[in-house]
Amino acid sequence: MNPSSEDMSHSDKKFLENISGSGKAIGVLTSGGDAQGMNAAVRAVVRMGIYVGTKVYFIHEGYQGMVDGGDNIIEAKWENVSSILQMGGTVIGSARCQEFRTHEGRLQAAHNLVKCGISNLCVIGGDGSLTGANLFREEWKGLLQELTEGGKIDEVTARKYSHLNIVGMVGSIDNDFCGTDMTIGTDSALHRIIEVVDAIMTTAQSHQRTFVLEVMGRHCGYLALVSALACGADWVFIPESPPGDHWEDEMCQKLSENRSRGTRLNIIIVAEGATDRQGKPISSNIVKDLVVKRLGFDTRVTILGHVQRGGTPSAFDRILASRMGVEAVLALLEASPETPACVVSLSGNQAIRVPLMECVQMTMEVQKAMDEGRFDEAVKLRGRSFENNLNIYKSLAHKKPKDHHSPTNFTVAVLNVGAPAAGMNAAVRSAVRTGIADGHRMLAVTDGFDGFMKGQIKEIKWGDVGGWTGQGGSLLGTKRTLPIKNPEGIAEQIRLHNINAVLLIGGFEAYLGLLELSAARAKYDEFCIPMVMVPATVSNNVPGSDFSIGADTALNAITDTCDRIKQSASGTKRRVFIIETMGGYCGYLASMGGLSAGADVAYIFEEKFDIHELQSNVEHLTAKMKTTIQRGLVLRNENCSENYTTDFIYQLYSEEGRGVFDCRKNVLGHMQQGGSPSPFDRNFGTKISAKAMQWISKKLKETYRQGNRITVLRGTLNLHMLVGQTLKG
Ligand code: ATP
Repeated sequence: MNPSSEDMSHSDKKFLENISGSGKAIGVLTSGGDAQGMNAAVRAVVRMGIYVGTKVYFIHEGYQGMVDGGDNIIEAKWENVSSILQMGGTVIGSARCQEFRTHEGRLQAAHNLVKCGISNLCVIGGDGSLTGANLFREEWKGLLQELTEGGKIDEVTARKYSHLNIVGMVGSIDNDFCGTDMTIGTDSALHRIIEVVDAIMTTAQSHQRTFVLEVMGRHCGYLALVSALACGADWVFIPESPPGDHWEDEMCQKLSENRSRGTRLNIIIVAEGATDRQGKPISSNIVKDLVVKRLGFDTRVTILGHVQRGGTPSAFDRILASRMGVEAVLALLEASPETPACVVSLSGNQAIRVPLMECVQMTMEVQKAMDEGRFDEAVKLRGRSFENNLNIYKSLAHKKPKDHHSPTNFTVAVLNVGAPAAGMNAAVRSAVRTGIADGHRMLAVTDGFDGFMKGQIKEIKWGDVGGWTGQGGSLLGTKRTLPIKNPEGIAEQIRLHNINAVLLIGGFEAYLGLLELSAARAKYDEFCIPMVMVPATVSNNVPGSDFSIGADTALNAITDTCDRIKQSASGTKRRVFIIETMGGYCGYLASMGGLSAGADVAYIFEEKFDIHELQSNVEHLTAKMKTTIQRGLVLRNENCSENYTTDFIYQLYSEEGRGVFDCRKNVLGHMQQGGSPSPFDRNFGTKISAKAMQWISKKLKETYRQGNRITVLRGTLNLHMLVGQTLKG
């Protein structure tokens, strides 16, 4: 239901004062291959458009619907996009359209748009669809002139719609578009791949098998590379970085080395477009035949195919697409005839606008570089995050002992602190392997600071962390104990084990613990060493950090559960669900969960609310439940208010909704903390932890050069926290 002006908060009204879409019309279409999350983008465009007073039209079946017109172009209502967030594919249909490639086809399309008063177009598709949109915009004036001359439209109409504004959003599971860190659908495709890898790993472990997994990516190796990072694959083949000339020998040697170390399973990931340096395809079957022939390993091939496009969108894709959709509407309303067509893209954690054709051009450059054998350049053109993924994959999986730095005689301790969070183990694995590769002796501390004080400290080797990326919880063991309980004990252990640096992986307690150790530096020389933390907590409440390891997994658990809860009421009577999420005093999970699950309201600690707001929300929901929408979702962060508890809100809604809807409440609890880590948490944990170790190595080297390994650090800023600023990629 469209919110009335009484429902809007003061800040909403202020926002609307400056932006009005009144008298305008936007057409939204999905084109090319479908991708999970396209529906969230369509929903956001429709609702944001209606919110700012614009008419929004669905254009069904992509450009084909635009060319055919008629029932393919239909005005969208607020409730038409209800309950589509959780659906994969695109509810408005997509197609490839030959006619739109012709002038005649585009002329017909222009006529159909003008008939509906549409001069703003939001295209959700791949680079082909966006190129087509740009061409359409460039031709628009001429097309309208032709229509006027042909008597199809009058001069007034031609003047009224003289400019076509275009905005694009990239929907593609391959993440093959330059200019954005992530395209809509990629994260969901990674979810599908990792679900399969996890399943395969259990069966392969039982039989000592080698699995060759082929994933999508004819021109782009992003899915293959990130999947390989996320499951710690033995080998990966991607189009941008073909293997060296003796790859057959090197790969077989690596596989047999891993087997002789006791690994029961090998995973090789192949992007469908992988080739060797001469451009000869390396297919999954070629790889399999090689492994069987040379090593005699029991080897199976799994080709994932369209499974990767299917299923429900991940929390990330829903949020990404929703935020992009809102930005797309703003971009259209702010566009002038001089503004070039733009794409809404993701940079770090921000939805930004970038010139459409520059991105298309750059995307074509990557292909050209690959075609001409300039592979290093192709990797660079894919962007910093792609290059970073590749480098980290190589350093954690491919490095042979002889590639490691010579021993440094430094010892680094790693521990988990606070509650477990999915992805912590990937972070430990990455820290241990990066540290060993840098030449350090790595120590694992079990049970957090509690174990530290008690001397639960042991050397941890490269092979000890094999297979850790996909495991949930904390394999090291973690506790909430803070160092203040016994700083003397920790100092003693640092002395005893000659520890030169400490890496903490944890949430708010890790942060407090680090502050306590730093404050105790005046008293204990032992704490005057490089210390760093990486944020790992489902609550995402570590100060100064955009993301923490574990939050994405928790968000997906909340989103999945909300989908199930909503579905449980389908076909029954009108029902409102009150759902309590974790997060302590941080509203991240509740507000993001609200976005990804399509909640009506999310109560969080950071945004104060009173009885008037509660009353207006109940009234709004009651009115909504009298329409065709029969389900309501209210999210509440566990500590959002001392007195407006989950029970209170449940009772309030139950009483006020009497006769219109009934209520159910669910406290999600620890299921948010469990489960195997999402692809994002595996990769984020891996990358951020590698970065932390690189910082430690740099600091240790600097201090060593100064000739004194401990006291020289006193008073200098060697307390460091890595900030998770990059959303994905
Ligand atoms: P995917 O990445 O899934 O292939 P895409 O958007 O690149 O998505 P395409 O098949 O290239 O998919 O394009 C989809 C549609 O966009 C085409 O069928 C056609 O109607 C239109 N289109 C693509 N390129 C052009 C072009 N150069 N001129 C006009 N229309 C185009």
